[in-house]
Amino acid sequence: MGRLKDKVAIVTGASKGIGAGIARRLAAEGAQVVVNYASSQREADAVVADIAAAGGRAMAVAADVTNRAQVESLVQAAIQHFGRLDIVVNNAGIYRFSKIEEANEASYRQQFEINVLGPLLVTSAAVPHLGKGSSIINISSNVTRVHPAESAIYTGTKGAIDAITGVLARELGPRGIRVNAVSPGLTETEGTHSAGAVGSDFQTWNEAHTPLGRIGQVQDVAPIVSFLASDDAGWVTGELILASGGMR
Ligand code: NAP
Repeated sequence: MGRLKDKVAIVTGASKGIGAGIARRLAAEGAQVVVNYASSQREADAVVADIAAAGGRAMAVAADVTNRAQVESLVQAAIQHFGRLDIVVNNAGIYRFSKIEEANEASYRQQFEINVLGPLLVTSAAVPHLGKGSSIINISSNVTRVHPAESAIYTGTKGAIDAITGVLARELGPRGIRVNAVSPGLTETEGTHSAGAVGSDFQTWNEAHTPLGRIGQVQDVAPIVSFLASDDAGWVTGELILASGGMR
C-alpha cells in the first residue's frame, strides 16, 4: 500500500490509543509521520520504533497542543526533518464525564483547551505550510449525535469541532486544502480503559445501541483517516464520517 507515498503527516496525541493507530496506519501506507505526544515519551518512541521496524519513517515530537510556541516547534520539526507537510490529524483530546451539577470551570477549561484550542492552534500553525492536495482530519466523536448523559462539556467540545470542520472546509477549499472529521463511537484505548469506560455499564449501553453490536477498536478508525488523507478522497471535504458501527 503506497497511496500516501511522499506525503508528510503530523498526528497529535499519537503516543497512545486512536492516534497511535492512525500514525501506524498512515506510515504503513507510505507517509512519513510526526508522532506527537504531551508527556508519554516512552510510548511515543515505541510507536516510532514499530513504524521503523515495518520499514516506515517517523519521529516523536513532544508538544502540548494548547501551547502556541510548542505547536510552532512541532510544525517546524516536521518541515525541518521531512521537508514538507501534507496531512494534519487533530487527534489529541481528553474526555471527562460528570453530572451537570458537578460541571466546573476547571473541567470546562481543560477539555475546551485541549479539544478545541489545541486543534485551532495546530491548524493555524500548519496551514501556511500546506499546499494543494493537503488534508486536515479532525477527530470528533459520535457523542455529537448520541448526546450521552453527563457529557455536556465533552460533547460541547466535539460539537465545536464539527462546526469548525465545516468552516475550515469552506475557508481552505479555495487553496485546495480539504478538511474533514472522523467521529468514532466508544473505542477501546488506553484512555477509555483508564477512564473506566471499557467493561462498564456505558460499554453495555453502547453495544446495545450499536447496530454492529460491539464497541470500536483503533483499527476500525485508522483506515478511515488514511482514506481521507489520501488523494482517493480528493473530492471529499467538510464531511463528518461516523466510525461507530452505526451508533448515531
Ligand atoms: P487516549 O488513549 O487517552 O490518548 C490520548 C492521546 O492524546 C495521548 O497520546 C496523549 O499524550 C495525547 N494528549 C493529551 N493531551 C495532550 C496535549 N495537551 N497535547 C498533546 N497531546 C496530548 O485517547 P483516545 O481514546 O485514543 O482518544 C483520542 C481522540 O479520539 C480524542 O480526541 C477523543 O476525544 C477521541 N475519541 C475517542 C473515543 C474513544 O472511545 N476512545 C471516542 C470518540 C472520540 P500523552 O499520553 O503524552 O499525554
